[in-house]
Formats: sequence, C-alpha cells, structure tokens
Amino acid sequence: MRRKRPPHRNNPSPAGVDAAMELQIDGLNKRYGAVHAVRDFTLRLEPGILGLLGPNGAGKSTLMRMLATVTRPTSGTVRFNGSDVGKSPDELRRTLGYLPQDFGIYPHLSAIEFLEYIGALKGIGRRALRARIATLLESLNLTHAGSRPLGGFSGGMRQRVGIAQALLNDPRLLIVDEPTAGLDPEERVRFRALLRDMAGERIIIFSTHICSDVESLATRVAIVDHGTLLADEHPLKLVRGCATLEEAYLQIVTGARPAA
Ligand code: ADP
Repeated sequence: MRRKRPPHRNNPSPAGVDAAMELQIDGLNKRYGAVHAVRDFTLRLEPGILGLLGPNGAGKSTLMRMLATVTRPTSGTVRFNGSDVGKSPDELRRTLGYLPQDFGIYPHLSAIEFLEYIGALKGIGRRALRARIATLLESLNLTHAGSRPLGGFSGGMRQRVGIAQALLNDPRLLIVDEPTAGLDPEERVRFRALLRDMAGERIIIFSTHICSDVESLATRVAIVDHGTLLADEHPLKLVRGCATLEEAYLQIVTGARPAA
C-alpha cells in the first residue's frame, strides 16, 4: 500500500490548514438540453488525490467545472467545509486552483507577465507573487523560458504554464482537468512528482483517461461514464482480481453499459 508522503520541504502545507477540510457532493446533476452530462453524482472528499477516470464525454470536465463554480449545477449541492457553495462560493474560490481543459493563453505576454497578471487577479501581493512565480517556473522546468512570449511555446510548455497559474495561490483545493494532456513522458513524470509533493492537507482532483496517471498518483479513483459514478476506490483495491488497472477499468465501464 502506498504511504502518504509528507509535504515537500520547500512547499509546506499552507498556513491555517483545516484538518477537517471536506468537499461534499450530493446528488449533482447537469443537463445541457437533452444531454444529461452528470447524473446524481454523490461523493465526499477529504484531503488526498482523486483521479477521475473515464472515457471522452463521460462528464468529467462538466463535474470539474461545477466544482470550480464555473458552471452551475441543474440540481444538487456542493458543500465546502459545510457551507453551500451554490449560495456562498467565496470560501471555496479563495482557496481554489483550477486548470480548465481549454486553457487559453495571451500570446503576446511572457510566461512571467501572464503569471503576474493571474496572480494580481487572485489578490497575491507583489513580492510574494514574484517569489512564488520563480519557484513554480523552477519546479516546472520553465525558468529559461519565463521572459519569452507564450505564443511561441510548445503545447507541453503551455500546459505547464497552465499548471503554474493553478498553483499560484498555493491552493488547498486543486482541480486540474487532464493536466498531463500534451506533456511528453519526462514532463509527465515531473508533473506527477510536483503533485505528489503538494499532497498532504489538500484536496486534489485531476481527470485523465490514462490509467498510469491514476496508478502512480491517486490515493482514490472515481470511474465515471455517461455522467454516472461507477466506482470509487483506492487504485490498488480496484485492480484486485485484474492484471492491471486498465483491465479493471475496462471491465467496470463495459460492464455498466447496456448490451448492444
Ligand atoms: P469529459 O470531460 O468526460 O470528456 P464532458 O464533461 O466534456 O466530458 O462532456 C459530457 C457530455 O456533456 C458530453 O456529451 C458533451 O458533449 C456534453 N457537454 C459538455 N459541455 C457542454 C455544453 N457546454 N453544451 C452542451 N453539451 C455539453
């Protein structure tokens, strides 16, 4: 069984961490006209790393957008530390880091200028922001490119800038939508290490359809298809009886589909 690693020396748990932090999702639904993108989704999250695993169109991004308060649910509630996020989103937003899937960039800004802009929007003081940007660029292997315009960045570099902006405020709730998409194997390993180092008293939710991301990173995996939560387990428990997590995942997803 994987042992929880202590927080990284240079990246301690943020001050004022609430050991009882929890995110309670109850009966969440999202409909887009005839499309029922998320169905009666109920899950209680405590600090740890949740991997949301499911095929394209399963509803992962929609669920994450609702948790990040970007999209309102059609019905159901999300409570962060007991308070209803639909009614008072501010507590969650203050401590949220979010990387959407369709992360847009400003091609004429340099990476540093862009991160300074996002940091200012998040209300981070100038000095603290500069130090934080330098640390994140270093962790994400982007220091050499900090002053270059984003327009010239490769897909993997842009994705790493997206990850940096999500981590700027040292969030206690981190929601990252397909963070490893577009990363090469070396970047992927680096990113996983960064996330592992950040774990501790935080709730981290990431989506993927790559089983190895979940196996090497998640303390919990939620398998989703057609907007429905099909399984919620520790990755090692899910694999039980199967050769690999991929096999277990396919059994669960195909087993839940109606016979053709
Ligand atoms: P995933 O992230 O797992 O690929 P999504 O949450 O993006 O899944 O999509 C779930 C379903 O909801 C899909 O059928 C998708 O086409 C639909 N959907 C997502 N966003 C919208 C939208 N803004 N308008 C209409 N349909 C949407």
